[in-house]
Formats: sequence, C-alpha cells, structure tokens
Amino acid sequence: MSECIFCKIIKKELKADIVFEDESIIAFNDINPKAPVHILIVPKKHIESIIKMKESDKEIIAELIWRAKELAEERGLEGYKLVFNCGKKGGQEIDHIHLHLLANNS
Ligand code: AMP
Ligand code: ZN
Repeated sequence: MSECIFCKIIKKELKADIVFEDESIIAFNDINPKAPVHILIVPKKHIESIIKMKESDKEIIAELIWRAKELAEERGLEGYKLVFNCGKKGGQEIDHIHLHLLANNS
C-alpha cells in the first residue's frame, strides 16, 4: 500500500495535476490521456478495486460519481463516459479504486 502511486499523490509525495480535492476525494488529470478530457476521481481511502470493496464503502463510490458529474458540468460537457476498470482482467492497472471521466469535447 505504501507503494501505491495514488496514495503517494494523495500524500503529496508525487506530483499530479489536481483539479479537485476535499477531505475524502482527490481528482487529477490522467498522465496519459485517452481523450481530450480524462480525469481520474479517486477516494483518499485506499480500496484496491470494486472487486474488493465492502458494502460499507458504497457511499464513497456514490461520491465519486457525484464529483464526476460536477466536474463535467463545470467544464460544460454535454456527454461523457464514466469507467471503473475492475481487476487485472478488467483492465485495471493501478490497485486503488478510481473513476475515469472521459470526454471528447472540452
Ligand atoms: P487503470 O488502467 O484503470 O488502472 O487506470 C490507471 C490510469 O492511471 C491510467 O489511465 C494511467 O494513465 C493513469 N496514471 C498512471 N500514473 C499516473 C500518474 N502518476 N498521474 C496521473 N495518472 C496516472
Ligand atoms: Zn492507494
């Protein structure tokens, strides 16, 4: 867990282009964007994946989705994709839950 890149960004041990932060969430631009808008929305609590999440983590997932909606609205996005890659076989490379906000128009 101490090796987790996203925990390092949360602890400000690693730089990121942060676009939102509060007590429970951080959001930053993806370092290797797959679309003109590509933001990662990340809970500060280290939870490995949707596959590993507990029922008690449900609230934070709702917060991620709400924050994605707010960030999209701020940017005037009329449509976007919200993606959770779940597990290695689901394309997840970083083992700390994150929601991808992807859009073509910015
Ligand atoms: P996933 O494949 O769902 O685990 O997505 C991980 C995402 O994190 C990829 O889109 C990467 O480009 C992105 N990423 C990896 N390292 C960093 C970093 N240091 N700062 C911002 N985004 C990162
Ligand atoms: Zn982590």
